[in-house]
Amino acid sequence: MQEQKNAGWAKEEWQENPLLKRIMNTEEIFWLNPKYKSRYSNPIVQPIKVKEAEGRLKRFAPYIAKDFPETKPMKGIIESPLIEISSMKHELEESYNLAIPGKLMLKCDSHLPISGSIKARGGIYEVLKKAEEIAMKDRGFKETDHYELLASDDYKELFTNYSIAVGSTGNLGLSIGIISARLGFKVTVHMSADAKQWKKDKLTSLGVIVKEYEEDYSKAVEEGRKQASHDPRCHFIDDENSVDLLFGYATAASRLQEQLKARSILVDEDHPLFVYLPCGVGGGPGGITYGLKLAFQENVHCFFAEPTHSPCMTLGLATGLHDKVSVQDFGVDNKTEADGLAVGRPSKLVSEMMTSMLSGSYTIEDGRLFELLRKLAKTENYYLEPSALAGVYGPVQMFQSEEGERYIREEGLTGKLNQATHIVWATGGSMVPKEMMDTYLSEM
Ligand SMILES: *Cc1c(COP(=O)(O)O)cnc(C)c1O
Repeated sequence: MQEQKNAGWAKEEWQENPLLKRIMNTEEIFWLNPKYKSRYSNPIVQPIKVKEAEGRLKRFAPYIAKDFPETKPMKGIIESPLIEISSMKHELEESYNLAIPGKLMLKCDSHLPISGSIKARGGIYEVLKKAEEIAMKDRGFKETDHYELLASDDYKELFTNYSIAVGSTGNLGLSIGIISARLGFKVTVHMSADAKQWKKDKLTSLGVIVKEYEEDYSKAVEEGRKQASHDPRCHFIDDENSVDLLFGYATAASRLQEQLKARSILVDEDHPLFVYLPCGVGGGPGGITYGLKLAFQENVHCFFAEPTHSPCMTLGLATGLHDKVSVQDFGVDNKTEADGLAVGRPSKLVSEMMTSMLSGSYTIEDGRLFELLRKLAKTENYYLEPSALAGVYGPVQMFQSEEGERYIREEGLTGKLNQATHIVWATGGSMVPKEMMDTYLSEM
């Protein structure tokens, strides 16, 4: 992999491909995955692991409720609201001059407790799993014991003998840092250049060691992995390869299924569900897609959203080269204000898994992220960080592009669109400091 970096080899090979040409010019695209199988059978799929993750999060709920009192009303279950955004739907229809048939909803992971982003799912899950493992190994802790015990000084002291490390563009570091520091672990977060200062400051104030790099996300992960490998008591959370992260994210699907049921919103052959997920390295959206496919099979249609300057997953999938190519290989600079999505090379694990599960992906310009941020604030009073707006553009792409039209036709969805539900996954934002949000709202 090393020798391919900055080689530009891929660029030459794909020079004449019309889609790749547009990606290299950082134009917005909507890509349909030709390998998508509505009924997939995938050897990587292990439904039992998702069930296990669900069970573990339930066991930990009393601990979460104790150490994070804001989760008490939900009895220690970390979950976000699902809301209908019909005013935003009108706004999109007006400004893009199109019709979005069906319901438009927002899944507010931006407002997940503890760390205010989608990373409160996978990231926190993996740290809890590690803590449980240590407690069992060193203290004979059992699944049937009281998990509030893990909040005691005794256990905090035990965890200080261990450390956690992670590489991040910001939000994963924030999630891992907050939960690990509260449990008692020593934590080191390796931050890429894109990481926002307020995220680093917040972590430093919690006693987390923050290491900064001038390079992008891939470098931060690589360095973190290398440094952690020298220390047997250090667990490295590997955003590029971790299946535990993925299973943690995947638990979102059964929770969503319950939320839809509670509102009598059907998902079946006649009621398709479209889900639009912002994608960085792929763990979050990949894990959720995986869970959604287990829950809804061919009746859910998942699309990833990436910035025009960081289309790493689209490139990995469209070329079939997965993590063997980076956006830089195609002359794309990986510079975006959407810090959570500023990733130049996709996760191998996720890219391979999505080969037959993902319906497609699209890109969005940074300027449009801010435009949508202001529109959502104005119409729905919801304040998100720029990365989280990438999903909102999905229904627009779906109903204004030829590719969208083709997808609907080929999947036999034409007569079912009025009964469709579109869910835009809002991946972060509730912890953005007010001054920062004010500049987002005033940027034109
Ligand atoms: C991390 C993140 C994503 C994407 O998740 P990946 O696992 O990196 O693909 C999307 N939005 C926000 C706000 C994020 O922090």
